[in-house]
Amino acid sequence: MIISHVLELDERINYQMCGKLYVVATPIGNLADFSYRAIETLKTVDLIAAEDTRHVKMLLQHYAINNKLISLHQHNEEQAAPGLIDKIKSGLNIALVSDAGTPLLSDPGMPFVKLAKQEGIDVSPIPGACALIAALSVSGLPVTRFNFEGFLPRTSSARKTFFSERTNGTATWVFYESSHRILASLEDLQAILSGHRRIVVARELTKLFETVVSDTLDNVLELVRNDKNMQKGEFVVLVEGAEIEKNTSEITEDQKSVLSILLKECSIKTAVAMAVEITGARKKILYQAALDMKGD
Ligand code: SAM
Repeated sequence: MIISHVLELDERINYQMCGKLYVVATPIGNLADFSYRAIETLKTVDLIAAEDTRHVKMLLQHYAINNKLISLHQHNEEQAAPGLIDKIKSGLNIALVSDAGTPLLSDPGMPFVKLAKQEGIDVSPIPGACALIAALSVSGLPVTRFNFEGFLPRTSSARKTFFSERTNGTATWVFYESSHRILASLEDLQAILSGHRRIVVARELTKLFETVVSDTLDNVLELVRNDKNMQKGEFVVLVEGAEIEKNTSEITEDQKSVLSILLKECSIKTAVAMAVEITGARKKILYQAALDMKGD
């Protein structure tokens, strides 16, 4: 009884001693996009783990945040994470920031957060800017379902394979791209997808030269190819998902009657081809409907 009471007390003390990990989003361009809570957190934690300490200093100076920094980037995060976890366990509060936007989203932080969760440490988000979400919000494309692909493979052939594996996906897909590869990536996309597919290129969001272009792939590619400014800066590319195939029950009454008139005079093949021309309905759907009608 006494022993278990002592243990409980011990656990409580440990729990109270343990600090917290805050995952803090920083602006993706416009420094004003930084929340009051983010500023307060960076001021009050014991340590800020930053992707690039020199880079984050500009933001900290802007908001008069004077705090200790430690470097945590993709080349040292596996090795550095356990030491930082020990510091949190000893009672320190640590904030994780990347160079821009939300940490872990195509940015360092995953091993640190994963280990913190495994160790039962409280991990709390301080949400804010994220290029993916900012771009989706202004794209005009469906956002209920989307696939975030991060950065694309570096070689053209790997990119084409990557695109061809996704052509039939019906959700919007989103990827990050740099100025070095934006043109090449769009060209590879055109080699695989129909040039009529809608895409959105969101460039330099929240910055002076913010540009969001939405059009067919063919038109956007032409624009980017012919305007050198459209090849500068940071990019989010969004691609409309493939059209969801409608089944034969979704054929309209008008389309049905056109098809049935044509079927009285022509073969299935000709009737379907003519019905496509007249009604604009999809060939596959009309063909299935024609087979059903002939079956009747
Ligand atoms: N963690 C960040 C976030 O939450 O958006 C993304 C970091 S990732 C290393 C950087 C890439 O994000 C850029 O190459 C670009 O594709 C995209 N990006 C970042 N800021 C952007 C901006 N202001 N406008 C458009 N794309 C941006």
